[in-house]
Parts: sequence; structure tokens; C-alpha cells
Amino acid sequence: MNPPDAGARALAQAFLEQTLSAEGNALMLEHATREEVVRRLASAGRAARGGAGTPGARTSPDAAATGPKIAEAPDLETLAALVASCSRCTLHESRKNPVFGEGAADARVVCVGEAPGAREDETGRPFVGRAGHLLDRLLMSIGLPRTSVYICNVLKSRPPRNRDPLPEEVAACAPYLLRQLALIEPEVIIAFGAFAARTLLETKSALGRLRGTVHHYSGYPVVATYHPAALLRNPGWTRPTWEDLQIVRRMLDGVGDREARIG
Ligand code: SF4
Repeated sequence: MNPPDAGARALAQAFLEQTLSAEGNALMLEHATREEVVRRLASAGRAARGGAGTPGARTSPDAAATGPKIAEAPDLETLAALVASCSRCTLHESRKNPVFGEGAADARVVCVGEAPGAREDETGRPFVGRAGHLLDRLLMSIGLPRTSVYICNVLKSRPPRNRDPLPEEVAACAPYLLRQLALIEPEVIIAFGAFAARTLLETKSALGRLRGTVHHYSGYPVVATYHPAALLRNPGWTRPTWEDLQIVRRMLDGVGDREARIG
């Protein structure tokens, strides 16, 4: 909350309290005239609506007012612009760049990871570096060049020191992912990593229990598998990851959810 807004609210509270308790039309404010109260309340109202020239309007847009804009964004470019100026959670304060996502706007597959890491934060792009190259190879193993899919994260801003995202950060950022999916309308979502899988599927289950079958998020089929960064640390998970991606391939080839799953 910026100082003028806090001051205006305090004055408004004092005004209301005195109005309720005062006899007749008496109004006494210690530090401001009636005109000053009206002026500062009007100024705070413009700030809350994001009015031009209002201090703090660009960097602190009202989160509640931004919500409908997200749901109504007509295309990915408009949505990316909202993310670029987003301050719905405190992660905007520490990020270097927002990482909105990239890929084909009509992709059949959307890959969803947890949150930007250091390289992503530097570049503003999702899944770069060694994990990104491995993701490219995994996707190619089922005939999907990186440019044919859409790649993004649950969170669009990097948590400091790569700490786990907080529930309130996930809740604040979820409307962006939902709108991305609504605009792209993928046939399958691949959740890469335990955090993305648990978040999308709203479960605390281990990734090992979630992979190998088809789940659903907001009406979209979801296949959960290991994050490429985890594969770099544990190459033994490459085989099960490849099997999970085969589920995706079979679904894209027209095999139903139940038939596509492993076993
Ligand atoms: S993580 Fe999402 S909600 Fe939080 S500031 Fe970044 S874009 Fe906004």
C-alpha cells in the first residue's frame, strides 16, 4: 500500500467514525480540512483505478481490478503485456524478467513447469539451458519440435533463490495459466515435475503415483512426468519419462485417455 492511499484511508475512517458519533453536522479532523479529505480520497480513487499520472498506478495495479482483464485478454500478446506489468504477488519485486511462456499459439501440447529459474529469469524465456535442451530432445522423441508446442510455467516470476512457490503466489498467478490454456486450447498438457503436477492436479501425491496415467485440469487432459532438470540429476528416470511421453503421443494419434495410459 502506498503512503497517500494509507493516509486517505485513515482520513476516511476518521471521517466516518466522527460522522457516526457527531451530533448535528459537526466534523472535526485534527490534521486536515474537509476539502483536504475530499481531495485525498479522490486521489486515492484514481490510484486504485490505475489513472494516468497517478503515483504508483503503473507498478501497483489493483489486483482485483486486474483479474477481469486477465480473463478477457483476447490473445497471448495482450496477456503477456499484463504479466509484464503484474504485481498481483510480491515476486514482481525480485524478478529480473517475467517469463510468460513461448511457442505455437495453436499448439496441441502445452508443457507446464514449476517456475522460472535463474537462467529463465535472466532471459525471460522458459526452459532454457541444459534442462531446456533435454526437454527439446524429449519432445523430439515423440515427433514434436519445440516450436510446435507451447511452453510455460505455473508461476511467471522467479521465486527468490528458487524457493518453493507459496500457495498465495500460485493462487495469484493461476488466472494467467488458465487464460493461456483457454486461448491455446491444447489437446494435452504435460506437467513437468512434482510441483507442477501437484499444483495442477491439486494433490499432495508423489509424482511416482501421478505419472503413467491421464488426469484432468480445468477440462484439459494432463500427463505428469519428471522435470528435465531432475533427469539431469537422475538419468534413471529417463525411461519412465519416455514412457509418459508415449502416452502423449498415443493421445495425439487419437487413442483415448484410458487406452493411452501405461499398462
Ligand atoms: S508470479 Fe504471477 S502473479 Fe506473481 S507477480 Fe509474477 S506474474 Fe504476477
